Amino acid sequence: MQPQPRRRRISPRRLAALASVTALTLAVSTSAGNGDLTPGTSTAGAGTGAGTLSRTSAHGPCMITGGDGIQMSEGIPTSAGYTRSTGTVRALTLMVDFSDAPGEGDALDRYREFFPKTREWFATSSYGRLDYRPELPVPDWLRMPKSFRAYGIERGAPFDPGYRELVRDIVAEADPEVDFQSYDLLNVLVTPNAGPAALDTVLSVTFAGNEEAPSADGVPVSNASFVYSRQDDGSGSYDRTGYRVLPHENGHVFGLPDLYTAEGGGAVGHWDIMSEDWGANNDFLAWHKWKLGWLDASQVGCASAPGTREYPLTPLARAGGPKLVFIPLNGHSGYALELRTPAGNDEAVCRPGVLVYRVDAKVDTGMGPITVYDSHRDSGGCTRSPNVHAELSDATFTPGESFTDRRAGIRVTILPTHRVRVTRGS
Ligand SMILES: [Zn+2]
Repeated sequence: MQPQPRRRRISPRRLAALASVTALTLAVSTSAGNGDLTPGTSTAGAGTGAGTLSRTSAHGPCMITGGDGIQMSEGIPTSAGYTRSTGTVRALTLMVDFSDAPGEGDALDRYREFFPKTREWFATSSYGRLDYRPELPVPDWLRMPKSFRAYGIERGAPFDPGYRELVRDIVAEADPEVDFQSYDLLNVLVTPNAGPAALDTVLSVTFAGNEEAPSADGVPVSNASFVYSRQDDGSGSYDRTGYRVLPHENGHVFGLPDLYTAEGGGAVGHWDIMSEDWGANNDFLAWHKWKLGWLDASQVGCASAPGTREYPLTPLARAGGPKLVFIPLNGHSGYALELRTPAGNDEAVCRPGVLVYRVDAKVDTGMGPITVYDSHRDSGGCTRSPNVHAELSDATFTPGESFTDRRAGIRVTILPTHRVRVTRGS
């Protein structure tokens, strides 16, 4: 394993369903690289899906990469420094409050807003490959030595100086009771009365792969998610859906980029929790599941050769069977195909069918690394579910329909019984 460049990653969140955030502040200047991983490189102990990714040499052309200068890339394998996304992952979960925002009620109630739902969400999405264990060695509010205001935390705030100070203080306060070495990631569940309501401003943020973070018990706190307020849209669904900010934030600690852009969720809609995490439940895209090491090589078809070939697909929400077909365009991008149905974590799917999207590993987090193709443009969509990007909800292709990229010489036709025919010119 080559030493990794020092880097800092931040992924500020936005409120997906409401007014667009004009400035997506990626408050970093970084020389983040993709690392030096090559297909077949063993990365045991390096964290991330890189060490666990299932692939064969036939998948080589589909393992697109973004190269240097991308903070968080859709490339495969994920660069080192992130939290491992398979096996048992221990999530140190701390509930934090402040003198000017004292925790109201039992800290365990704050914990219960997110668990066991988050653990179950990952078990379902990963087909049992991620055994996510929330652990709370401090089952009470952890009082910070400074007021909330003093940390200067606002939307898009960079790690320095406020978060560095906050992490240092969290470590100092928790250290007597916590051995930081025994955990793979940190969740900070901030008392909901600190900062603005999530309806106004989403403060929740993750610093991932941040090797410059303060150390605790000899290890840097390099993968940490901070959750503020409550994602309560007033529709009465908070108890069922409000936890979904945490799987989104934890998606970053596993190396996944934001799929919403400064314009909102219009690129991917409700087809991935990294795009929209308000309202109805939604799963990860199959691309993300492959990237996270949750699909076997046999479940991923790589359509790199010229000619015509048919591929079977099984519903993404169900364990087992082929899940993803990828059609590489070049070394950094390609088209992905997967079958989405209303099951598992996908409760808002109103038009079951084959989702077609483009993945570009050279496009950074929050800039639109993934684009879903809408089979029914300007239809208004098929959902009335609140906080679901309606237009793209009927984006799927059904038998008889096809998707064509003439310039690239690619044609995808949906066949009956969940098969796709891929034709590509030479
Ligand atoms: Zn995010």
